[in-house]
Amino acid sequence: MELYSGMMNKLIEAFASLPGIGQKTAQRLAFYIVNQPKEQVRMFADAMIEARENICYCKECFTLTDREICPICANTRRDHSTIMVVETTRDQAAYEKTGKYEGVYHVLGGAISPMQGIGPGDIRLKELIQRLQGDVQEVIIATNSTLEGETTAMYIGKLIKPSGIKCTRIASGVPVGGDLEYIDEVTLLRALDGRTEL
Ligand code: ZN
Repeated sequence: MELYSGMMNKLIEAFASLPGIGQKTAQRLAFYIVNQPKEQVRMFADAMIEARENICYCKECFTLTDREICPICANTRRDHSTIMVVETTRDQAAYEKTGKYEGVYHVLGGAISPMQGIGPGDIRLKELIQRLQGDVQEVIIATNSTLEGETTAMYIGKLIKPSGIKCTRIASGVPVGGDLEYIDEVTLLRALDGRTEL
């Protein structure tokens, strides 16, 4: 027996396909949506479509942006000779939130994970090495303290060594297995200040 109409089921299934949303939450969200003013729902749907159609990767640091070059890379007041390597745009946002980091970023788009079949060629390492051709004084590796993050940090360290460019790793004040985006700003700043040379 179908509990709801076909359209209602379709909406519930759409919500249930999102990460972290179970059947119960999906039902709650679907009921919420059909009880909202039509105009509000249209704005919500438009925001999703617009974001999906216009957001791309920055040509320099590969963060998500709606411009060719993201605002951080385009900012001439930032220190372009210091590059912080992070796994995702969300990790980058965590460091940006501290408001204390003045360099630029390089977003890998993941981490090396032999278990999940993600190799060095699957993240933006080639692009990082290319950026080192420019005037770079320091590369700060701020990948997560997970097994994948540490593996990636070690790999990058070895990759950069021959270039003679200073390469540092953020302090392990960041709890092991911790996702950067959930760590408070004070801890992040401490990890950044306490970075050690690789
Ligand atoms: Zn950028």
